[in-house]
Amino acid sequence: MPDLSPEEFQRAGHQLVDWIAGYLAKPERYPLLSRNHPGELIDALPAHGPAQPESMEQVLADFERVLLPALTHWNHPGFLAYFATSASAPGILAELLIAALNNNGILWKTSPAVTELEIVVLNWLREWMGLPLQFGMIFDTASISSLHAIAAARELAAPAIRQTGRSEKPLTLYCSEHAHSSIDKAVIALGLGQQNLRKITADDEFRMDPETLEAAIVDDLAEGTKPFCIVATAGTTSTTSIDPIPAIARIAQRYKLWLHVDSAYAGSAAIVPEFGFILEGAEHADSLVVNPHKWLFTPMDCSVLYTRRPEILHRAFSLVPDYLQTADDPRRVNFMEYGIPLGRRFRALKLWFIFRAFGRERLAAIIRDQVLMAQELAVEIGADPRFEVVAPVPLSVVCFRLRGSDESNLELMGLINAEGDFYLSHTVLNGRTVLRIAIGNLGTTRDTLQRLWTRLRELSASLIA
Ligand code: PLP
Repeated sequence: MPDLSPEEFQRAGHQLVDWIAGYLAKPERYPLLSRNHPGELIDALPAHGPAQPESMEQVLADFERVLLPALTHWNHPGFLAYFATSASAPGILAELLIAALNNNGILWKTSPAVTELEIVVLNWLREWMGLPLQFGMIFDTASISSLHAIAAARELAAPAIRQTGRSEKPLTLYCSEHAHSSIDKAVIALGLGQQNLRKITADDEFRMDPETLEAAIVDDLAEGTKPFCIVATAGTTSTTSIDPIPAIARIAQRYKLWLHVDSAYAGSAAIVPEFGFILEGAEHADSLVVNPHKWLFTPMDCSVLYTRRPEILHRAFSLVPDYLQTADDPRRVNFMEYGIPLGRRFRALKLWFIFRAFGRERLAAIIRDQVLMAQELAVEIGADPRFEVVAPVPLSVVCFRLRGSDESNLELMGLINAEGDFYLSHTVLNGRTVLRIAIGNLGTTRDTLQRLWTRLRELSASLIA
């Protein structure tokens, strides 16, 4: 038997599932951030791979002994850094099945379920988010989804570029100064030139200023460049600010530019009926990205790109070598013709498990409460004269700072993170260092936040003195 026998699989599988159940019940038993030194894990593992088989018992034992201390516990309720996320149990079970089935959706034919379930669950999500963009497909990350969106925008603006690699005029792209760095990376990867990316200034609530945007487009046209794409962000990485998409969409229409909406984090929250403000105007977008692995309790990875112009995405990426030719049928979608990757994981299965196990209303209730928790905490922080809340809290992130130097804020963050119960991250706003509390983990409760707030105040006492 080249693989584990069914009995061995069952034994190790039960052991592992039992371990996972215990882990998920209380990830707080471990220090949130690994206390390993850089290189410690490398030094602790053999330099050469094993020549002979080792038992799963040995492997699992070494996982606990050597790997676990080198892990950061993203499922820990005190994980409040970046955009906090947790893997829900239905999503974890789906991942097990995805690995077991080992399907590769390179074509519809190689597993109809991989393609058709993706179409179905993305239709469900689209409807929940109130989006008219009828075509969706799953990528690994928002960085890759946005890269595809911008490639489609480029295809529309300069169709010759696919063949010649050149455009008559430099193509210029617009996003806010608070847009995610994945937009810069897409510009780099697509060879558009960083000098052709215009970072539009934001207002005092960190939202792109449409007048400045329009002025930049007018200037570029006068200079002889070809504006081709605007990226609006709904839920920026630092503060979750939402660009004024309706005004930006009007500008995109006026100058015939592709509008891509980056709602990698906040798009999921649009499933809450009263949070329609998040994607207001996005019905005019040409494309939009949302990451269920950020705020829909989906284990890494799962990013969804929607577009109302799939034919342009197809034009940008369709290339079918002989060995991948299949019969034509309008219902036979081959997603590999709409993007770079040929191999495609069965990620839709995670969404299917999660959507069915939670249902829209429960998912919406969880997100709604996480936003409420953030807003309640912001009120408490704002009421303490030693601290200030430095950005509006429309969603589940609180940006705040100790009234003091940047160094004292970084020191406070260092102290709290070193204790092992919480993990906060920082950003820079208006040139000042700011701390962030991002709520998105299924285990985070009001009690978690109260304990954090108490500890922040205690630790800050020594810093201010
Ligand atoms: N867009 C926004 C607004 C983000 O906040 C992030 C990451 O936090 C990204 C894009 C990139 O996401 P990914 O890691 O899926 O590429």
